[in-house]
Amino acid sequence: MILDVYCLCVFLTVVDFFNQINILYGTLTEFCTDSLYPTMCAGPKHDQEGASLLLSKTCSNRNFIGVPFPRNFPDVVKIIFKRLFRIYAHIYHSHFQNIVGFGEEVHLNTCFKHFVLFTWHVASKSNDPQTLRMVAGAIANLCGNQKLHEMLIEDDGIKALLGMAQCGNSDVIAQVARGLANFAKCESRATVQGYRSGRSLLMEDGALSWLIANSIVTLSSTRRHIELAICHLAQNDDNAQDFISTGAAKELSRISSLESSREDIRNLAKKTLAWNPNFQVLMREEVHVSYLNFYKDVLVFERAL
Ligand SMILES: [Zn+2]
Repeated sequence: MILDVYCLCVFLTVVDFFNQINILYGTLTEFCTDSLYPTMCAGPKHDQEGASLLLSKTCSNRNFIGVPFPRNFPDVVKIIFKRLFRIYAHIYHSHFQNIVGFGEEVHLNTCFKHFVLFTWHVASKSNDPQTLRMVAGAIANLCGNQKLHEMLIEDDGIKALLGMAQCGNSDVIAQVARGLANFAKCESRATVQGYRSGRSLLMEDGALSWLIANSIVTLSSTRRHIELAICHLAQNDDNAQDFISTGAAKELSRISSLESSREDIRNLAKKTLAWNPNFQVLMREEVHVSYLNFYKDVLVFERAL
């Protein structure tokens, strides 16, 4: 039995999202013609019409009071969201310059952000890995835009991202790692260039602890994103205290050693360690500890002989 008030809220929100994207996409139709992009543009028009049809089907024969939502309502919503999501993907992929030309990029980003966060809200109830991967991927893209960082933190976008990782699906975790790497990369660039200052926005939401806990994942591309995120966060001096208290400095030291697979990341970690005086002290201790551990291992080995 589906709670009707909940369905109604979801339904009205979906209608809202549909209208928003209709207006945005409407401004692009002159650029989105079959003759210009014969293969690409069969998609968004098809998706727009499909979503419109599904919406009208869902609300026909209903006066919103007393008539229950169909049993398959969650599935219908999922399909509509997928279609709307594809339209957004097409706009970002093929028409972002048009949007910039209209001065609509802030509006597009805001609409997309609300869409993604609401989808996360619905997805968190479904726990379907495919949906979670899609939403995590969308948030990961938003993380690559520094102007959206404060909004993402305020709207619990990063908390949502870390929450999605709890499903344990490796594809979802890969998107979460990519999102944090995107976020950290943009943030460290802005810090270095002087556009922002202070501790990373990621610290409050426990992203660094998540990165440390997941730094030994098997999937190499995911591991690379996690290592990149740690390296970028380490470049901000105001994160040094967090690095020492969470053990991330040790992790950075590990990345700089031979254990990490990629040379460029290893060098980035080494450079960061050498550059930050707080880490230098720590690294010396670390080297000392690793020698001690080595000797311990030798002793154990000799004893075993
Ligand atoms: Zn197009």
